[in-house]
Formats: sequence, C-alpha cells, structure tokens
Amino acid sequence: MPDPTILGTEELDTREGARLIGRALVRRKVVLLAGMVLAALYTGFKVAVPVIFRSAVNRGFADGQPTGARLFPLIVLLIVMALGQSAAGGFRRYFAIRMSTRVATDLRQRLFEHWQRLSFGFHDRVQTGQLMARANSDLEQIQNFVVYIPLLFANLLTFVAAIVFMFVINVAMAAAALAVLPLLVLTARLMAKRLSPIVARIQQRLSDLTTVVEESIAGVRVVKALGREDEQVRRLTAVADEVRDEALAAARARAIYVPLLIMLPSVATLVVFWYGARQVISGQLELGDLISFMFFIGLLIWPLQLVGELTAQWKRAVASAARAHNVLDQDPQIVDLPGARAMPRGDGQIKFDDVSFSYDNGRSVLDHLSFEVPPGSSVAIVGPTGCGKSTVARLIPRFYEVDSGSILIDGCDIKEMTVRSLRDRIAIVFEDTFLFSDTIRENIAYGCIDADDAKIEEAARLARADEFIAALPDGLDTVVGEQGMTLSGGQRQRIAIARALLTDPEILILDSATTSVDAAVENQIRDALEVVMKGRTTVIVADRPATVSLAQEVIYLEGGRLMAQGRHQDLIREMPEYRNLMAGPDARLGDS
Ligand code: ATP
Repeated sequence: MPDPTILGTEELDTREGARLIGRALVRRKVVLLAGMVLAALYTGFKVAVPVIFRSAVNRGFADGQPTGARLFPLIVLLIVMALGQSAAGGFRRYFAIRMSTRVATDLRQRLFEHWQRLSFGFHDRVQTGQLMARANSDLEQIQNFVVYIPLLFANLLTFVAAIVFMFVINVAMAAAALAVLPLLVLTARLMAKRLSPIVARIQQRLSDLTTVVEESIAGVRVVKALGREDEQVRRLTAVADEVRDEALAAARARAIYVPLLIMLPSVATLVVFWYGARQVISGQLELGDLISFMFFIGLLIWPLQLVGELTAQWKRAVASAARAHNVLDQDPQIVDLPGARAMPRGDGQIKFDDVSFSYDNGRSVLDHLSFEVPPGSSVAIVGPTGCGKSTVARLIPRFYEVDSGSILIDGCDIKEMTVRSLRDRIAIVFEDTFLFSDTIRENIAYGCIDADDAKIEEAARLARADEFIAALPDGLDTVVGEQGMTLSGGQRQRIAIARALLTDPEILILDSATTSVDAAVENQIRDALEVVMKGRTTVIVADRPATVSLAQEVIYLEGGRLMAQGRHQDLIREMPEYRNLMAGPDARLGDS
C-alpha cells in the first residue's frame, strides 16, 4: 500500500514553491526579458494615447473652434500609437507563451528525470496518480501564472504611469480617485484569503481524481473480474463530487467579492467625473484634461482586476510548485557513494555476507543471511510465500540498500561500485513483463539500443521466441504493448528473456519468471532458460519444481533466514518442509 504521508497529504512549503518558480524563470531569463521589454513598449504606446488626446482636445479647442490642421498630426500620432500598441501586444503575448511553455517543459523534464532516479523504495510508496497529477495539472497551474508575468508587468507599469499623469493633471481629482484604492486592496485580500484554502483543496482533490482514474484503468481487469465496476464509478463520483463542491465554494466566494471589485472603481469614476465636469464648467479645468483624466482612471481598473485574479492564480501556482518541489526534494536513496568505482567485468560470483534487510516499515525481512553462488553456476531461491525470495533478487542489483552486512560480486562490495556499472552486468526477468508500446524489435533492444538485427534475431532465437515472432503479421516489426498486439504471458516472458540476453549479462536473475504461466508454457520457457543460463551465474526465484530443478543448487529460506543449501534432489529427500513445499501446488493441481 502506498504511504499517503509521502505524497497527497504532505505539508506544502509555499516558499519553496515560489523559489522553484523563480529558479525556473531565471533559466529562461532571455525570453522573459524579451517579454518584459515588449510589455514596457506596449505600456508606453498605451499611456501615450490619453496624453496625445489631452493635447489634441486642448489645442484643437483652444479658441473654442476645432481646427483640423492643428489636429491632423496628432491624429496621425494616435494611429501610430495604436499600431505600435497592437504590435508590441502581439509580440509580448508570443514571448509570454514561449516562456511559459519552456518553463513548464523544463519542470516536467526535471520531474521526470528525478523520478526516474528515485529508488524502488519511493515508487513502492507513491501512487502513480499523484505523480501524474504533478506532471500535468500542477505544471499547468504554474504555466497559467507564468504566462501572465509580462502582462502583469505591463499593467503595473500602466498603473504607475496613470497615477503619475493623474497627479500631474489635477491633484485633488487624483486623490479622490485613489481614495477607493485601500478599499479595493482590502476586498481583494479578503477574497484571496477566503479562496486560497479552497483552491489548495481543489488541487489535492484533482490529484485524488487522477489516482482513481489511473487505478481504474490500470486495474480494469481486476475490476471487471470481480464485478466491481459500480464501486469504481462510486469512488470516482465521490471524488468528483468533492471537486465540484470545492469548485462551487470557490465560485460562491468569487460571486460575493468580484461585483464589489467592479463596483468600487465605478463609483469612484462617477464621483471624479461629477467633480471634474463642475471644474470644466467653472473654467478651472480644461476639457482635454478631464477627458484624459477619465482615460487614465480607465487604465487603473484593469491592472487592479488583473492583480486580484493573478493573486489567486499565484497562490495556485505556488501550491502546485510546492507539490512539485516535494517530489524533487525526495532523495534518490540509491546513489554512487563518493569514490565509487566502475565494476570490473568478472566471472559473476555472488556472495551474501551476513545480510539483514527491512523495507521502510522496519519489519525485518532478511535476517543475517549468508550464502555464495559460484561463478557461472545457478541457484534457486526457494521458500514459503513472503519469506524474502524476491527481496534477495532485488538486493543484488541494489534496488534497495541492505541494513547491515554486504553483498559482494566477484569480491567487490556492490555498495562501493557505481550503480550503472553494477546494473550493466546484471539482467533481470520479472514475473510481469512490461512491454512498451513499440515494435518487438525495440522491446528486445530496450537495454542495448545499438544492437544490430543479427544480434536481436539471435537473442530471440535463444529465448525460443523466434517461431511465434515469425508468425506475427509484421514479425519483429509488430507493435506490441498497450497500443499494439496483445501477446500471451509465455510470449511476453520469452521477449523479456531475449531482452535480458541481448545485454550479455554475467548475472541473470529470474524473479518468479515462470510463476504466472501454466505448466505447458513453463516448459517452453524452461527450455529457453536452459539455453540462456549456460555460462552465466543465475539466480532463480521460483516455487515450481520444473523451474527450480533448472538450478544446480537450492537455497531454502524461511522467515528471511537460510534453512538449507543443497541440490534439489537431496533436499527433496532430506527435508520434509522442502518436500512439502515442492509437492504443495502441484499436488493440489493433481500433477505430481
Ligand atoms: P512470494 O513467494 O509470495 O513472492 P517472497 O518470498 O518473494 O514471496 P518477498 O516479496 O521478498 O517475498 O517479500 C518478503 C516480505 O517483505 C513480505 O512480508 C512482504 O510483505 C514484504 N515486502 C515485499 N515487498 C515490499 C515492499 N516493497 N515494501 C514493504 N514490504 C515489502
């Protein structure tokens, strides 16, 4: 079961979120700067319009008579400003989108690279849906804020410029117009305060929703087999209802505050207009001054609304960035230690020296386990379910770190070797073979991308996969996996064996590789294994005699402890527990 304390209900440090966004922006500073410069240009053109208007009206009506000749250059200037504003606005938008897309792509790549590096331990605990949400909806929130940065900058400049011009035109009117500002700020703050916890909850619920959807799709066979479709729909509806309720709560909060945010500036505008018109009538203010003043007031409103909107978006973005940070902050526990050496090629001798191990929950799984597998030989790890067989297999490529003791390959402690060089020498075939939605050729060559066709065909032949591949519509070029042709369990396993073989490993680990197939298919795989095991040190985790007997020796575990080591036939003869275990499943099947 994934541990929900890791992702999903974790603490969010919004300062870390802000830092993450800041650093992502710094990486794209050139595009950001281009957007800002264009934003400044856009503002310049925009603010110039009321200034020109002011002088057009004041000059044009200077002697009470509008004069076309005097107005003409100003009208041309106004047209130039309008064109400049559209051009700068268009380019600003382009650079804003370019920058925000790059920032999101950078972060997505960082997240992806990071969780590829994270150990098995992390992936054991984390729900896939949580990770998917972080790579999708969370990054979308960040992008949705970042894209507005140049526009926000343009609006802040407009705001400051408008206030300066208003004071230049008439101090009293400017002061009156700005009197509503504190009220506006207060209203916007109240709205943000009410909205931000709701918004954080919506983001979390959306991750939960992704988890339910992801699990329903990934586990669709289990759902159908057990007739739990309705239950899955019920789970999805429950989470979707929560998302809807939170979204409605957010809409209600907005419905209260947004009209206030719109009404307050309108009231201020009316008051100023009333006062200004009286000033014009009494000859204390020129008409052009009043018109341009009203223009400037108009320029104040949109920046204020934008800041209100973007404050909410900023909160969403930092919460999302904090959630992304929590993934990036996870330590990839399995890393090269300082001074780690590349593993030299050797014969493939494996030695467990007093190894104890427990997973994150602290429960002991392997207890002072010691054994040795001579180079080029094969050993089967056998024991009752849960005794730690697969754990032994997973420790050899250092998917997890041992608590104490050491694992040696050709006399080198695997902890002191680089992880890459260690894993390059080992190939593993798991119980569930994962095939990528790609051709069989690419699936076989996955661990060895520069392998030529001859090598791939040879690996397929050795793995006894050549016959069924030849019968497929496009042979090696048949697309398999989620998007393609579905293969049987035995066929998938043989592709996995071919994949493992292609890397020409010194050590081959077969972790329950024949567990999920029936006895007839097991025999086919067994034949393939017999060929590929030759000359390699092989560790087989198995519970069926047909596969176990492939190994020269058996290591019998119980409760994570070594109970016996010897030949299969000898243990059958001498150890009743072992005999019972081997007889168990087959006896139940009436096979023995
Ligand atoms: P089986 O024959 O059923 O496959 P096994 O002998 O291979 O069992 P392991 O898979 O090695 O057993 O598991 C040993 C113990 O460790 C079990 O009690 C299991 O519950 C626990 N365990 C296995 N994997 C994890 C994990 N990722 N996190 C926590 N505990 C685990």
